[in-house]
Amino acid sequence: MSRANNPQLKSWVEVKPNSDFPIQNLPFGIFKTDKDPEPRIGVAIGEFIVDMNVASGLGATDGIDLPFNIFLKDSLNDFIALGKRITNQVREQLSVFLSESNSSILENPIIVENLLVKQSEAQMLIPVNIPNYTDFYSSKEHATNVGIMFRDPANALLPNWKHLPVGYHGRASSIVVSGTPIHRPKGQTKADDAPAPSFGPSKLLDFELEMGFITGRKTKLGRSISTAEAEDYIFGMVLFNDWSARDIQKWEYVPLGPFLAKNFGSTMSPWIVTIEALEPFRVESPMQEPEVLPYLKFEGKKNFDINLEVEIIPENGKGKTVSRSNFKYMYWNMAQQLAHHTSNGCNIQTGDLYASGTISGPTPDSYGSMLEISWQGKNPIQMPDGTERKFILDNDTVVMKGYCEKDGVRIGFGECSGKILPAL
Ligand code: MN
Repeated sequence: MSRANNPQLKSWVEVKPNSDFPIQNLPFGIFKTDKDPEPRIGVAIGEFIVDMNVASGLGATDGIDLPFNIFLKDSLNDFIALGKRITNQVREQLSVFLSESNSSILENPIIVENLLVKQSEAQMLIPVNIPNYTDFYSSKEHATNVGIMFRDPANALLPNWKHLPVGYHGRASSIVVSGTPIHRPKGQTKADDAPAPSFGPSKLLDFELEMGFITGRKTKLGRSISTAEAEDYIFGMVLFNDWSARDIQKWEYVPLGPFLAKNFGSTMSPWIVTIEALEPFRVESPMQEPEVLPYLKFEGKKNFDINLEVEIIPENGKGKTVSRSNFKYMYWNMAQQLAHHTSNGCNIQTGDLYASGTISGPTPDSYGSMLEISWQGKNPIQMPDGTERKFILDNDTVVMKGYCEKDGVRIGFGECSGKILPAL
């Protein structure tokens, strides 16, 4: 086990027991403040952000071979491209720097004030420049539910589904960081009984509860990544809301798949939790039957036990948790997704985002989209203010959260939040 993951570790920074960001987490992000509007790299701990440039100046990264001003960047791309040998060393040494053994730093309040920024006083920015975004479809429960609703209950999964991780190339330009509002998309739709399509604001706007992984390395065109190598290419994970306009999707998706129903906006959480911090939370994947082809076989535990939840908060109203799911339900794991994605020689880039697909669990209260929760609008959700939700209304905010918990350590992802504004 990595030293930084030791459940006994405590920090000289105060961390409340239910915090997503104990010393065992140390996720990376990009932030700025009113006082210092220069975007820079930070690491979350408790309710604070460690300004990594200041930490480095105080000796936290001494002895690590880092380029000049590597923490004064407006994205993590250059940092994560240094490779895991370096970035893990930074996490390990930062853990020592923040641990109780270094609590003498508290004797100098001015140093501490420069080093730690309150999260409430900072603005989080999108943590990576994302060259490419791919969205998979890797939850069997989700794919089955959609197949039952849109096609044939007897043959809900298409014949390819258990043989390869189905995916499509998404749109990177419209991925925004948590807290960025999104306007309801307009588009072409056609009701089943309408003689012709029409154009207007989507009436069936939905969220998709997903997680995404960020690659920290690139490959040459023509090369493939094996399932055994895959995790060395994965820097870390985020929460991801793949907003979807179901009415636009239904009309446009044949035969090439999602397009304008998906690319009007996707929301990601600002903190990238490293695979190393998630190490203690590995679990077995669901049994894959029939057996997969050799290039998709893998060894060991490649799945992670990550509790997920979705809350809908109306404007000026009380929120309601509409789903509690878990990343461990994923049929296809990240190593298989990356191996499949590169099996034809497709090259990957540093900062690419690969999303899981909607993460639905086995029961209706664990479904990862309103499409499934309300079963195409047939079972509306009752909100605390007496209103109903079949899909997402204007001025609703959707908040996704995620955390792992074991041996008294809680590794969280913070929030992935987005408010839907009326169509422009
Ligand atoms: Mn999706």
